[in-house]
Amino acid sequence: MNLRPAKRPEGRILLTARWLVGHRGGRHVLIENGEIVFEDGAVVFVGHRFSGEIARRIDYGNALIGPGFVDLDALSDLDTTILAYDNQPAWKKGRVWPRSYLDAGPYEMYSREELAFQKKHAFATLIRNGITTALPIASLFYRAWGETPQEFDDAAEASAALGLRTYLGPAYRTGNQVVEVDGRITTHYDEPRGLAELDAAIAFCERHEGAAGGLIRTMLAPDRIETSTAQLLRRTAEAGRALDVPVRLHCCQSKIEYDLVLAQHGMSPPEWLESLGFLNERALLPHGTVVSGSRLVTRPGRDLEIIRDSGAAIVHCPLVSGRHGNAIDHFGRYRDMGLKIGMGTDTSPPDMIMNMQVGMILARTLAGNVAACRSEDYYDPATVGGADALGRSDLGRLQPGARADITVFDLDRPHLGQVIDPIQTMLLAGHGRDFADVIIDGRFVMEDRMIPGVDEAADKARAQSQFEGVMARYPERTHGHPAASEIFSSSYPVERAEARA
Ligand SMILES: [Zn+2]
Repeated sequence: MNLRPAKRPEGRILLTARWLVGHRGGRHVLIENGEIVFEDGAVVFVGHRFSGEIARRIDYGNALIGPGFVDLDALSDLDTTILAYDNQPAWKKGRVWPRSYLDAGPYEMYSREELAFQKKHAFATLIRNGITTALPIASLFYRAWGETPQEFDDAAEASAALGLRTYLGPAYRTGNQVVEVDGRITTHYDEPRGLAELDAAIAFCERHEGAAGGLIRTMLAPDRIETSTAQLLRRTAEAGRALDVPVRLHCCQSKIEYDLVLAQHGMSPPEWLESLGFLNERALLPHGTVVSGSRLVTRPGRDLEIIRDSGAAIVHCPLVSGRHGNAIDHFGRYRDMGLKIGMGTDTSPPDMIMNMQVGMILARTLAGNVAACRSEDYYDPATVGGADALGRSDLGRLQPGARADITVFDLDRPHLGQVIDPIQTMLLAGHGRDFADVIIDGRFVMEDRMIPGVDEAADKARAQSQFEGVMARYPERTHGHPAASEIFSSSYPVERAEARA
């Protein structure tokens, strides 16, 4: 396995632009015509008029130099959201395994090469969107069960080759939801299988922690609370402590999940996690939308207080939540409570800027108050918030001693309109694809929107045909096995040229 990232450029490199997001006294500052200098992968200077020697100077002109985004739920999939976007309910549309598929023996719908390709493609797309630290997430719908160490060995190679900073770990589970013939949703458990996957995930962490010159770290990733048994979560928490790695678990994501946990354990998801000793400062919890005190939960409780007091972080993914008719209610309240909040993309497009924009709109809508949140309230969790959730004071901020994970946001793009403050313009009109250059650990991983060794158009075509293959197998995995054309509706009637007789 080759886990050696490219060589760094020699000597000190100075970057300057109209705007620079520096970090002083624990908060971001905007430095007009600022300079940042880095060497050997670390930031050595942020400010004005650097007086030392430099090997190279780049003036980006009308641009914003800032820290890379930290994506705690980073899309590493050919995202299947599009298949369900206008096709609901989920259990009728292949999003929950039917009993017949489970009994026939679930199988991997992608080959090893296809899984390796989609990770490399997804990692490159994250870089294009200014994401410099990624904790991958993918769907398990089309998998035989959990993710495999082999595919994460391949992911580690792709991560090192691209120079992306990642926290890697195969997702595992002891259970899965099943639609019975009569339409009831039950849970099928295979605890020995899930515990064996946990052991393999621990071995993966031991093998890869700190690889690629420290670019690759590891994490434990039990998939979701409703597909986990108590034993799996207890052992995961113990392993997380022993390995000192982040532990990510989807919870408080949907009303169905909340009610399932309540029915099975007599406790809300945070109450159950607390009782298992699962919650601590290593825990990363997407999505935190369905909790006591929110509109969907009538049972009184202290869900958010439990999460906050444990030191766990909520991974906020407003785009995917909003698409499912959900939202944090509301962001300003979570912030004022002192909850730790990081951000995740979790869906396509993996655009952190779009996530911040949607989050800001939902926050103001749910608060019924335009003053409920400001642009910097979202830029913080996407940078320092995510880094702090990982215990990384050297990421998400640009100050001497931090890692040189730097993005260059082009303020000259015509759709951006006028600028009075670069962060406000980003939050009002920016796209994830407005980044021109991305630097990770002192390496230029994207220059002028080009990623070395990546042919974006060819990869897009390959992704489309790979995705069509999984779509063709959807009927096998859908309740009642309807034809694909019945599962996936069209927006308008489709007229096709008739085949010549
Ligand atoms: Zn998610």
